[in-house]
Amino acid sequence: MSPMNPQRRLFWQAGTGLLLAPWVSVLAATGRSWASGDPFSLGVASGDPAADGFVLWTRLAPEPLSPDPSAPGGMRGASVPVRYEIASDPQMRSVLRSGTVSAEAGLAYSVHVEVHGLLPDRHYWYRFASGDATSAIGHAITLPAVASRVQRLRLGFVSCANYEHGYFAAYRHLSAEQPDLVLFLGDYLYEYVDRRGNTVRTHSGGTAARTLPGYRNRYAQYRLDADLQRLHGQSTALITWDDHEVQNNYADAWSQDFVDPRLFLKRRAAAYQAFYEHMPVRPSRGLPDGPALRIFERYRFGDLAEIALIDGRQYRSAPACQTPANKGNWRFESNRSCPERLIEARSMLGARQEAWLLDGLKESRARWNLIAQDVQMAQTRKIMPEGENGFRSDSWDGYPAARSRLLHHLDRYRVSNPVVLSGDIHACCASDLTLDFDRPDSRVVATEFVGTSISSHGPGQHVSRALLAHNPHLRFHDGRQRGYTTVDITPRQMTTRYRVISDARDPQASVSTLKTLVVESGRPGIRGQT
Ligand code: FE
Ligand code: CA
Repeated sequence: MSPMNPQRRLFWQAGTGLLLAPWVSVLAATGRSWASGDPFSLGVASGDPAADGFVLWTRLAPEPLSPDPSAPGGMRGASVPVRYEIASDPQMRSVLRSGTVSAEAGLAYSVHVEVHGLLPDRHYWYRFASGDATSAIGHAITLPAVASRVQRLRLGFVSCANYEHGYFAAYRHLSAEQPDLVLFLGDYLYEYVDRRGNTVRTHSGGTAARTLPGYRNRYAQYRLDADLQRLHGQSTALITWDDHEVQNNYADAWSQDFVDPRLFLKRRAAAYQAFYEHMPVRPSRGLPDGPALRIFERYRFGDLAEIALIDGRQYRSAPACQTPANKGNWRFESNRSCPERLIEARSMLGARQEAWLLDGLKESRARWNLIAQDVQMAQTRKIMPEGENGFRSDSWDGYPAARSRLLHHLDRYRVSNPVVLSGDIHACCASDLTLDFDRPDSRVVATEFVGTSISSHGPGQHVSRALLAHNPHLRFHDGRQRGYTTVDITPRQMTTRYRVISDARDPQASVSTLKTLVVESGRPGIRGQT
């Protein structure tokens, strides 16, 4: 991406609230007055970029945590017109585009503006207005033209932000780095309430989210966090989900509660709808349709990189060997205790998404091919008390045949520089992905970087030591600190930095670099570490 003009850096104005701009006063004559509260309390966001535009998001919520299910965000009644403006400067002086969209009651008065016709590889600024209120100003980028030569791409990726476990200082530090794009790789929120203590703040309502009003208020509570709001205002987002956007460890229609799948799919429908209502995702890819919402998508950065953003939850086979007796536990299974895990037909992505992913990788002409997704791909063998090898059923270790299909495909079609980005484990972990994890001399075909959590509690050093001892393809593992990951890509190399914060319980936590890891173009696997 082209670097941002330094004068344009400090554009973000949080909480402009009811500030009146000249163009708004014209609207005020016809629009409503928001005396009861700021309708833009949840901020603004941009996402799902293309070379000619992006999606702009906001949601009208003057009472964001309103407990009345018939008044989401304190809104009731008919749809409300919302005006948007897109400018080429951070002060919104040269407005290039404006229009009016409708915030509908059925989607909690959220708006998703799909913008087309802008120039590739540019910085834009935007804001919304409704009646006498204006939103904060947000920043968005367009992608480089597909046929262009791109010299540099800077990404940030994040996962696992448990509101109760900590503050979101990591989001604030990432936004200060102004990455071209930020990738959210799941557990954007947590549906449950932590009753074990050791928390710094509490999920609103004090109960697990399981209905549409419950999930809506959970998203609203997270979005009221100033650090998360700042990151969304700063950086255009690519977003996929993991389990906690719905329920811990769910898989398609399978729930750890072993409820009737039809009942669980109703809960999933509510969660997916609330996800859609709060995320800057493309309406034209598909609105939530009962329990279905397509989120997987491919993004191209000229000749430099392609990102396949995939969905590891909606279409996966039920976890192997789970019974009501062991529900809720992290399960480790051996090949003897659970031969079912090895069945060929078991799928992580579902047939359609898997074919889409493999076809896209085979056709890609990009130098770097990133797969951004939720759970760890590298095998992580754990020695069980009986001395056998144990594997976790919820990660790609629960779907080894599907993982093998993907890795062999990367090898067979000589996909250029495949790199997997993942979340879920609340630890930094960098791995060489090999064709056969059980053979130390097996060929390395790709590289994986798992990022630590924004705030969710992570594993101690004894866990890292044991995993590193029994998994030689794991090159780095450390779960002691919370943070985010940055990725700097050039034609020659990819530099990954694990950025960790001093203490997630401290809203003012500082940031430092835990580890820097390099992958060289043409040589899959970790090369250098500092
Ligand atoms: Fe998590
Ligand atoms: Ca998870």
